[in-house]
Amino acid sequence: MKVLKFGGSSVANAENIEKVVAVVKRAAADDACVVVLSAMQGTTDDLIEMGRAAERGDDGFIAKLAELRDQHTAAIEALFQDGRGTETSEFVDSALHELESITEGVRRVRELTPKTLDRILSFGEIAASKLIAAKVADDGVENEWHDSRLLIRTDSNHGFAAVDFSETNKRIKDEIGNSESRLHFVPGFIAADSGGYTTTLGRGGSDYTAAIFAAALDADLLEIWTDVSGMMTADPRFVRNVRQIPRINYREAMELSHFGAKVIYPPTIQPVMVKGIPVRIKNTFAPEDEGTLIEAESAANGEMVRGITSIDRICVLSLEGSGMVGIPGFSKRLFDALSRAEINVILITQSSSEHSICVAIEEKHGELAKRVVDREFEYEINAGKIDPLKVENGFSILALVGDRMKEHTGVSGKMFSTLGHNGINIHAIAQGSSERNISAVINSKDVRKAVNTLHEEFFSDGRKQVNLFIVGAGTVGGRLLEQLRQQHDYLLENLKLIVRVVGLANSKRLVFSEEGIDLNEWKMQLTADDGVNVPPEQTANVIIERNLRNSVFVDVTADADVVEMYAPLLEKSVSVIACNKVAASSDYERYAALKGLAREYNSNFLFETNVGAGLPVINTLNDLMRSGDRVNRIEAVLSGTLNFVFNNYDGSRPFAEVVRRAQAEGYTEPDPRLDLSGTDVARKILILAREAGNQLEMEDIENVPFLPASCFEGTVEDFYAEMGRREDHFRKLLSDAAAKGLSLKYIASLAEGIASVGLQSIGPDHNFANLSGKDNAVLFYTNRYADQPLVVKGAGAGADVTAAGVFADIIRAARS
Ligand code: ADP
Ligand code: ASP
Ligand code: MG
Repeated sequence: MKVLKFGGSSVANAENIEKVVAVVKRAAADDACVVVLSAMQGTTDDLIEMGRAAERGDDGFIAKLAELRDQHTAAIEALFQDGRGTETSEFVDSALHELESITEGVRRVRELTPKTLDRILSFGEIAASKLIAAKVADDGVENEWHDSRLLIRTDSNHGFAAVDFSETNKRIKDEIGNSESRLHFVPGFIAADSGGYTTTLGRGGSDYTAAIFAAALDADLLEIWTDVSGMMTADPRFVRNVRQIPRINYREAMELSHFGAKVIYPPTIQPVMVKGIPVRIKNTFAPEDEGTLIEAESAANGEMVRGITSIDRICVLSLEGSGMVGIPGFSKRLFDALSRAEINVILITQSSSEHSICVAIEEKHGELAKRVVDREFEYEINAGKIDPLKVENGFSILALVGDRMKEHTGVSGKMFSTLGHNGINIHAIAQGSSERNISAVINSKDVRKAVNTLHEEFFSDGRKQVNLFIVGAGTVGGRLLEQLRQQHDYLLENLKLIVRVVGLANSKRLVFSEEGIDLNEWKMQLTADDGVNVPPEQTANVIIERNLRNSVFVDVTADADVVEMYAPLLEKSVSVIACNKVAASSDYERYAALKGLAREYNSNFLFETNVGAGLPVINTLNDLMRSGDRVNRIEAVLSGTLNFVFNNYDGSRPFAEVVRRAQAEGYTEPDPRLDLSGTDVARKILILAREAGNQLEMEDIENVPFLPASCFEGTVEDFYAEMGRREDHFRKLLSDAAAKGLSLKYIASLAEGIASVGLQSIGPDHNFANLSGKDNAVLFYTNRYADQPLVVKGAGAGADVTAAGVFADIIRAARS
C-alpha cells in the first residue's frame, strides 16, 4: 500500500491534472493506493477571502465565487469529453450552491466563526478530489472516493484541529483497509469533530492527512507530490543554485520544515516517523526525478549542513529587569502566560545573567503577548523590578539544519562570521542542545541576502559570487569592464569567483541588473532608453536597498560627489574600491574615518591605483608596515605625465606641445593643470605618507611650482597658450640643468615626516636617471631596506594598467 498526496499546484488546472492522473494510474497499476488531494491552487486563499469579504458585508465575495466556478468548470470541460463530465459538473455546481448560501448567511449575520470558515474551506479539497477521482474513473481505472470527514476525527479546534488517532486509525482501517478496491481518493486538509462538524488541520495540512492515512494503513511509502524535485538545500525561490537533498532523516526534515521549508507541512512527519514509513518528495512536473527520501537514518552525504531555511513575520519579545536575577519562576510565568493565550513560542534565548529573556513568536500574536505578559507581571512592573514587555516586529528566523553539525566544530563560527562580513546584524541566537539546528533572529530585510550568503558558504564548493557596482564608465572604466569580461572564466576556474557587474553608472544614469550586466553590450545598455535606470546620485541607496551579498563598489571617477557615498556603503559592509583620489587625499579626518569604518564593518576600503596606477605601491607599503618594518624615507617619481614631459622635452619642440601630447596619450588627469602644478604628485605623496603612519594634510606638503603662476589663470586653453608664451622659461630650466650635466625630474619625497614635491636636477648616477617614458618609481628606505631601497618601478599611468590595478583591488576585496 502506498499513499500519494498531490499539492495545490499539481492540480492547478486541467493540464496539470492530466499529469497527476498519469502518475496515479502508473502507481495504481503496481500497488494499492490512497490518493490525497489538495484544493486547486489558490482556492483555499480565495475561500478565506470570500468568507472575510462576506463578513465585512462586502459583495466582492460574489465575484470570487464566480472565479472559483470558472476555474473548476474550465478544468472539467477540458478533462472530460462528450458530456462525460456532467455528473462531476453537477456535483461541483451543487457544492458551489451550498457555498453560496453559507457565504450569504455570513454576509447577513456579519459573522464568520472558525467553524463556518472550516465549512467554507472544505469546498476546495472536496471539489478537487471528486474531480480527479472521476477523471481517473473516466480513463477506465476504477476507484472509490471517501469523505475524510467521516474518517479523520478531531477535536473542535477549528482551523487547527488535533487528531484523535485511536478513533481515526480505526475508521480508516475499517473503511479502506478492508476495502476490495485498490485505489482510493480522499480530500486532504479536512476532518470532522465528534459532532460531525467540519474541521481543518492547519494551512498546508493535506500533507498531514496523507501521513495520517499512511500511518493508519501501515503503508510502505508516503509520496508527497509537489512542484519541486524534492527538498532543497534552501528555498528555491530565494536561492538560485539550490541543491536537491537526495536523502534526509526524519528529524532533520522536521527541523527544516518547522523552520520554514514549506515543501512539507511540519506535523506530517510525526505519524510516519513513529511507524518508520519512508516519505518521498516528488515533482509532478518531472516525475522521473528521484526526489528526496525522508527516512529513519539517512546516509551521510559528506555535508555538515543539510539545509538552510527561514521564517518571516517574527516578533521578538524581551523581558528585562534587574528584579529577575536569581529569582526562580520568572520564565515559567512568562511561558505560562503565553501558553494560556495559546501563543506558540518558536525560539528562546536567555542571557546567563538572567537579566533578560528573549522569545520569538509569530508577529500576529505580538499584541496579545504584550497584553498577557504585562498583566502577568503587573506587580513587578509597577514595583520597577522589571520593565514592561518589549515587543519588536519585522524579524525573521534563519536556521541552519543538519545532524552532522555536532560532529564539526566551527559551524556556528562560520555562520556568524559570514553574516557579519555581509553586514547582517544578529538580534538573537539559539542553538538546540541536539545541535541539529542553529537559529538566528535577523531583520527581515536581510533574509534574502543571509540565506544566499550562507548557502554559498556551505553548499557552493567554495564558489563565491561577487556583485560589483561600478561608477564611471570612461576610459579606465571601459578598460576595467573589458578586463572583467575577459577574465570571467579564468576567475571562476582558478579562484572560484563569479564576478558580476550588477550596477553600472556614468554621470547620467545607473543601470542595474541582478543577473549581471552583459559585458558585451554595456555601452548600449548605458545609452538605451529602457531598463532600470536611476539617477546616479541614487547609486548608494540602490546598493543598500538591493542588499546583495558580497557587494563591492568601484569608483572610477574623479568626482568629489561620488566620495560622499563611501561612508554609508562601508557602514553596510559594502567594500569600496577607489580609483578616485579625492577620499584618500582630502581631510585626514575623512581618510581616517573611512579606514575606520572599513575595519569596524568588516569591509574593504582599497585605493591602490591612487599612487602609481597599477603598480603595487600601497600594498607594498602596507606589507612592510604590517610585518613590523619602519619606513624612514620615500623617494618617488609619481607622475607619469611629468616624467613623460621631461623625458621628451629636449628643446626641439615647445614645452606646451609636449604637454599636449601627454594629454593626447591619456597620461594626464582630465585637467592637465593638476599634473603640471604638482598637485597630483602632492596628493600621491600625501597618501603614501598617511599610509606610512603620518598624520598629514595637503597644506603640509611643500610644493614649489616650476610653472610661472600666470599659467594657472583662466581655462585649460589659456593654460596651453600661456605655456606657449613662456617657452623661454622652460628652455632656461632645461639649459641650466644641461650645463651641469644634469637632467630634470619631478620628484616627491618623504623624510622625517616631512613631505615635499618639486622639480629637481639629477645626475646620471641617480636612481631615477634612467626612468623612461611614463614610468613611475618609488624607493622605500626602511629599517630592513636601509642601504639599498626596495624599489617599485614601472608604467605609472595609462588606462590599461590603472584598470588592472582596480581589478586587483576588486579581487583582493572579493577574497577577503
Ligand atoms: P504544495 O502546493 O504542493 O503543497 P507547497 O507550496 O506547499 O506545495 O510547497 C512547495 C514549495 O515549497 C516549493 O515550491 C518551494 O517554493 C517551497 N520551499 C521552501 N523551502 C523549500 C526547500 N527547502 N526545498 C524545497 N522547496 C521549498
Ligand atoms: N488547501 C490547503 C491550504 O492551502 C491545504 C493544503 O494545500 O495542504 O492550506
Ligand atoms: Mg504544501
